[in-house]
Amino acid sequence: MKNFLLLGVLSLLLVGCGGAEPTTDTQPTPKPSVATTPQPTETRTTDTAADPTPTAAETNDPADTTPKTIVASFYPLAYFAEQVVGDGLMVVNLAGATDVHEYSPTPQDMVRLNEADLVLYLEEQFEPWVGDVIPNLVAAGVPTLEVIEGLELLKMEEHDEDDHDEHGHEGHEDEHEDEDDHHGHNHGEYDPHTWLDPVLAQAMIEKITAAVVQIDPANEANYVANAAAVTKRLVALDETYRAGLSACATDEVIVSHDAYGYIAERYDLDLHAIAGLSTQDTPSAKILAELKEEAEEGITHVLVEDNSVKEFAETLARETGLATLPLNPLGRGTLDTSKDYFDVMGDNLESFRMALSCE
Ligand SMILES: [Zn+2]
Repeated sequence: MKNFLLLGVLSLLLVGCGGAEPTTDTQPTPKPSVATTPQPTETRTTDTAADPTPTAAETNDPADTTPKTIVASFYPLAYFAEQVVGDGLMVVNLAGATDVHEYSPTPQDMVRLNEADLVLYLEEQFEPWVGDVIPNLVAAGVPTLEVIEGLELLKMEEHDEDDHDEHGHEGHEDEHEDEDDHHGHNHGEYDPHTWLDPVLAQAMIEKITAAVVQIDPANEANYVANAAAVTKRLVALDETYRAGLSACATDEVIVSHDAYGYIAERYDLDLHAIAGLSTQDTPSAKILAELKEEAEEGITHVLVEDNSVKEFAETLARETGLATLPLNPLGRGTLDTSKDYFDVMGDNLESFRMALSCE
């Protein structure tokens, strides 16, 4: 009965989450083929909400009929989990439309975490709430997985230009007060943005699959097959990126959020990250001066996050001659979104190709 009531609460919350999604920011053109694909999570929870009376089977043995629930801390982990489990288990996406850089669990989320059959999070330094919550879950016997653990990670410095070392490392806050205040990063020593790398994403799928099999070994063959299918798509995505970025007029690109270090490393781009670039209504004089220098060196585009406003882009173009293109770091998103992980990764590639003048 307890489990059943929880599902009812979850379904209401999920509906609320989907409604709050800032779709106009991230998905200017709905994609019918994806949008109409039924999402197992939403279907399941809607069914539950529509029928608040437990069936005899549910009342007698909730463990057999209540789907196990995987709670993932933010979109890419929830998406990967959903690809692996298919419609067998329920996936909850905690941060949803809230950017992972700014998310912390609500009291309702704490209930979800405590009732979860498996909790997926990226890492403690990237998600500061983890340090307070995960040890308690572990002590209570809830299975948890730090998805980034064991992956081959880049140090933040490795893809940072010395003269553009502007992003939000803790400890640099005082030096770059204006830019970093809004950046919201809690980066540790290593770059946490592994989900934007089609190769590291494969390792993440592998880890998630192993954890899912542990909580539901009876359906192992199913999960392994699902994992193989999504891995195949990630291999193809890697090949598309490699081919798409292999013949470009320049290798230099300016981004507004230091989230693309793995892409730069893997596909040989020279990345300049300028923090605060798209978090203000209009770019500061300091940022404009920095960008003017870049424009003189032949850079033509700036890749900004989808939360940047039109006024910002217009000021930038007027003052520097640089054009803006959108990039989505997938730090937020809901499972019922009209553009999924692969769609966004494809859109990002197109922006990179345009900015780099690739063939
Ligand atoms: Zn980030």
